[in-house]
Amino acid sequence: MIIIGLIGGIGSGKSTVAEMFCQLGAKRIDADQIGHEVLQYHEVQIAAQNRWGNRIFDANGKINRKVLAQIVFDPSEIGCAELRFLNFLVHPYITRKIENQIRQFAESQYRYIILDAPLLLEQHWKQRVDYLVFVDAPRSIRLARIQQRGWTQTELDARELTQLPIEEKRHAANWIINNSGNLDETLDHVKEIWQNLENQNHE
Ligand code: ATP
Repeated sequence: MIIIGLIGGIGSGKSTVAEMFCQLGAKRIDADQIGHEVLQYHEVQIAAQNRWGNRIFDANGKINRKVLAQIVFDPSEIGCAELRFLNFLVHPYITRKIENQIRQFAESQYRYIILDAPLLLEQHWKQRVDYLVFVDAPRSIRLARIQQRGWTQTELDARELTQLPIEEKRHAANWIINNSGNLDETLDHVKEIWQNLENQNHE
């Protein structure tokens, strides 16, 4: 089993590329989705309530991710400390869930697992993957794409400040996929990498 970590800037197209790998036969682990699930764990909710009070919950008693994001991505030292607290709180649960999924997919004989984890380097999961793929798109294109889903430049700036510099991520990768063109071009890049993987890992 080969684990491929997928990284890239916000809105670069990681999910899109992950789906393309899945079309070719890989199985995806979506660390963002896992993070959202972990936020609803009872232990996490209790710790969040102790830290941030009832304002953190929506009308259904679930953690309101929009409110949480405003707290932890506040571009101040306080925001920084709150983000550290949140990461410290959820990291062990997320890691455990990822490990469980890896085990499950390995048992199901999947050959390739895509670990789609935007904070893979920041959370020190690099040693867990065999290859790193960086999804590349210029900031202007990334901004335009995420604006379509209602984000603002301020939100992009605030979140980017909490991540490793893009250059560092790009530098860490074995492969770079250019996702600044159309989807067909990106799929061609993905297929090239897939072929490379098959060549390097044939049994
Ligand atoms: P995030 O950092 O928020 O997790 P992401 O890196 O996973 O985002 P995607 O969600 O895959 O990025 O892509 C962001 C948006 O851009 C989506 O609406 C997606 O459909 C669109 N998109 C991705 N790649 C392309 C492309 N090559 N051409 C046009 N639109 C694209």
